[in-house]
Amino acid sequence: MTASHALEQDLRQRLHDLHVRLDQLHPRASAEIAADVRRDDLCDSAQAMGALEAQTMSVERLTLAAQRITEALQRIADGTYGQCEECDEPIPPARLKAIPTATLCVRCQGAAESRASRAARAPQSAWEHEEAPHP
Ligand SMILES: [Zn+2]
Repeated sequence: MTASHALEQDLRQRLHDLHVRLDQLHPRASAEIAADVRRDDLCDSAQAMGALEAQTMSVERLTLAAQRITEALQRIADGTYGQCEECDEPIPPARLKAIPTATLCVRCQGAAESRASRAARAPQSAWEHEEAPHP
């Protein structure tokens, strides 16, 4: 088994796990919480809306992570995986090990992050957040 083959297997497993979690989240977000909002009085519905919002954000985060893994799998298929999208230089293996969905080398990622405002988190961080959730 080649290194990229093992990686592909790993990414497919992660993608599958994400879809399982999305399947678990979606029915709750759309049905149960929406029902809570309708049922509860004004005071409680504000709380339920907060829960719905948190759920929606979670779904968005998982969807983004799934999308990035799908793109990484596509790059493996194309043979462009591990290549920086900005400068075409190879992305260091240590970086890919830490963030398998990385599309930029450290230098270009740094440049991209300094371009981006602090309010808009770089898409790359979705993976990091997924691996190391904050308390
Ligand atoms: Zn680069």
